[in-house]
Amino acid sequence: MKLDVNVLKFLGKEDFRVLTAVEVGQKNHELVPLPLIESIAALRGGGAQRSARNLLRYKLLHHDSAKYDGYRLTPLGYDYLAIKALVNRGAISSVGSQIGVGKESDVFEVMNDEGDLMALKLHRLGRTSFRAVKSKRDYLKHRSSFSWLYLSRLAAAREYSFMVALADQGLPVPKPIDNNRHAVLMSMVPAIPLAQVQELHRPGDTFHQLMALMERLTKLGLVHCDYNEFNLLVDEQDTVTLIDFPQMVSVSHENSQELFDRDVDCVIKFFKTKIGYIPEQDEARPWTRPVFEELRQNLQSRLDIELQASGHPQASKKGKASLSPLDPVLGLEAESTSATEDDAESDGEQTVAPQVHVPMKVSKQQSQRAQALPSQPTVSPTLNG
Ligand code: ADP
Ligand code: MG
Repeated sequence: MKLDVNVLKFLGKEDFRVLTAVEVGQKNHELVPLPLIESIAALRGGGAQRSARNLLRYKLLHHDSAKYDGYRLTPLGYDYLAIKALVNRGAISSVGSQIGVGKESDVFEVMNDEGDLMALKLHRLGRTSFRAVKSKRDYLKHRSSFSWLYLSRLAAAREYSFMVALADQGLPVPKPIDNNRHAVLMSMVPAIPLAQVQELHRPGDTFHQLMALMERLTKLGLVHCDYNEFNLLVDEQDTVTLIDFPQMVSVSHENSQELFDRDVDCVIKFFKTKIGYIPEQDEARPWTRPVFEELRQNLQSRLDIELQASGHPQASKKGKASLSPLDPVLGLEAESTSATEDDAESDGEQTVAPQVHVPMKVSKQQSQRAQALPSQPTVSPTLNG
């Protein structure tokens, strides 16, 4: 998927007001009728309709009149709101090519005015079918209505808060930079997923590094739940960076033992089948499988409680034993799918001016493995002045 940021040049202040108004309206409307858009955006005299037409043209809004007449955001429309907010804050100034496609996200390379290369992850929770999402995660149980905006926003907020906490603890994770709506902005790791690595310099070292990292995480009160070769990035020196956090659960989660063992098995299986390293047979480095219960008895910290990870003990006390990986954190309102008023105001204020190509500054650390990333930075137009 190409995120064509050039479109932003053709959108004016009124267009963003309308886009934001639809977002706000979607809090309690599946489709937002034009009169409501007009009133939220405070646009009279056909202004809202004109903008809506423009936004339809660029596929940022969807129009539907089957049940009643109204508009809703497309995923692209939501992307543009998040990107615009990050641009307005000065966090980014240009968007380049896509570097990763996950099941539930798209990841793009982005830059700021200083030329720092970063990764922008846009969560897409509704992309897999509703049924698949629902069976995988339990956050929909208590909800009558469901919105991909809400779920994606929640996943991003959750991922960002986990990343901040893990980075604070000195764990090898990307540096968290910003979060808006369904977007997480983080440092670009000059590394590729373990799954794409042809050969490791010292497989035993890497294996033990991965096990130690998992144990460290557990002692902080968390189980990753997706600890596999796609979420472990490896650089030239075989240094590992862990990514992808929204699904992490508490060590007190009812399935934590099982989830932990599954994570351990994933790594073992990968090393056995793809790398040809069998930890039990490495006489130079005796290894015993980590015992979850032992780690759980020796917790060093309770990030799970601090971050309200799914299944944390205080949630159970309040009768929320089945808290999901994506239960609200960071003070998000349970039903809120929209921007905060702050966002809504600032997002609409600035008009984006056409810009010239940004010269790329490739970080010194960018190694051969980094160059094996699917694309080389071709960061195109800057988005502000
Ligand atoms: P998903 O939840 O969809 O699996 P991930 O967070 O795992 O999303 O990201 C998908 C892919 O994007 C990763 O496998 C990796 O290749 C790439 N990626 C994600 N974050 C970064 C980052 N900070 N630096 C470099 N590559 C990244
Ligand atoms: Mg992933």
